[in-house]
Amino acid sequence: MRANNGCPVCGGYIFKRTPYFYRFGGRTIEIVQCFGCNLGTLSPMLSAEDITALYSVDYFKSDYHCGVLSGSYADELESLRKEFHPTLSLILGFKKEGTFLEIGCAGGAMLAEARDHGYQTIGVELSPEMASWGRNHLGLDIRTGTLEGQKFLNHAFDVVFLGDVMEHLPDPKQTLVEIRRILKSDGILVLAYPMELNHMAPRLRRLIGLRRESPHKPYHLFYYNTSNMRRLLEGLDFHVLLGKEDKLVRIHPAMSKLLDQINHAATTVFGVMGDRGVSIAAPKR
Ligand SMILES: [Zn+2]
Repeated sequence: MRANNGCPVCGGYIFKRTPYFYRFGGRTIEIVQCFGCNLGTLSPMLSAEDITALYSVDYFKSDYHCGVLSGSYADELESLRKEFHPTLSLILGFKKEGTFLEIGCAGGAMLAEARDHGYQTIGVELSPEMASWGRNHLGLDIRTGTLEGQKFLNHAFDVVFLGDVMEHLPDPKQTLVEIRRILKSDGILVLAYPMELNHMAPRLRRLIGLRRESPHKPYHLFYYNTSNMRRLLEGLDFHVLLGKEDKLVRIHPAMSKLLDQINHAATTVFGVMGDRGVSIAAPKR
């Protein structure tokens, strides 16, 4: 099949169906996957108006984790901070100190962790409520608005971090070009993202032709894996230092748990078929 928009990673125009689809605004929206690089995307892609409507509906009150968490940000703060530990350890292995910018920082759980490890932190957040929550409760420097709107100086940051943000961006290339500009020449970009089409369950579903309506709203516009993320970054003059996969284990239902345990072992041993990815990249010299 042919999707409306070309693939932002490889420029391809041929897409295959995946087992997943959304129902949104009275329409069926398929998740399709590029033949050239396996990047997943929506067909049809959401319009700018769809995206505005999507985020005005309680996203930051209850759906900020794309509907996956049940409590408010305040309730989940401690578990969110803990969730960021492994990523922060990875970052510390490349850059031990300096200026740390998080784009899409929500209430600032990761920034609070980074500050405790000695970084000078700044956050950028679209939601005014989330940004002011982080300022008031955690004493963080969080600016409200878009990255481009901040007009940061060239080469200002040692670390730029985006956690669960890439998949929400309608124009990921534009954001990466801006990050390249504000990153120090020896700085690092760290991306953490879900890989919903990469693990065992979607592969099995495709094999047996089992379709599933997503219980979530179509917040995710793109579905990356570590290979197409590498390709995207290299195409924008980044040098990729690390691409790491992890597999989360769900507890329910029991069938998924068993499959996830097998998948978890495979991902841990071979570093493949994960459902979470971390990519670390530096500007090419
Ligand atoms: Zn592609």
